[in-house]
Amino acid sequence: MELFDTHCHIDDASFDHDRPQVLQQCRKSGIGHITVPALVRSGWDALLTLCKSEPGLHPTLGLHPVYTNQHQDSDLTRLQEYVANKSVIAIGEIGLDYYINNNDKARQQELFEAQLSIAKDVDLPVILHVRSLFLFYILFNNRGALCVYAFLITAKH
Ligand SMILES: [Zn+2]
Repeated sequence: MELFDTHCHIDDASFDHDRPQVLQQCRKSGIGHITVPALVRSGWDALLTLCKSEPGLHPTLGLHPVYTNQHQDSDLTRLQEYVANKSVIAIGEIGLDYYINNNDKARQQELFEAQLSIAKDVDLPVILHVRSLFLFYILFNNRGALCVYAFLITAKH
């Protein structure tokens, strides 16, 4: 049986010293495919290059809510351009993170909705990050509605 890891930040700098060995071990363990979600615009090119150079790695591009303070409106325009790249299999990692107290919730929501709209326009799925909130999120626009529901389970539960 071949496994598909749907969420692994193997592009992170912490893997720079042993990424080939980690990927080799993954393949030996039966993991044939790995989705690699992006975090910030500045990492997209390196992520795409990595995924192109390693078989079985599949890039997703997006603006992660934890890094909301780093994202620019121009990143959304660039995202629209980048997702034309046929190797991009999803928009992500996107979402809402209310765990971080100093993060701007309104800006998070603005970026989240914009990226959902891009995903819908190009007919790509999304990789969601949702933390510290019960979310029943309904987005209406001129093309219909989208409903996402997610929740956090803590050790207490
Ligand atoms: Zn992630």
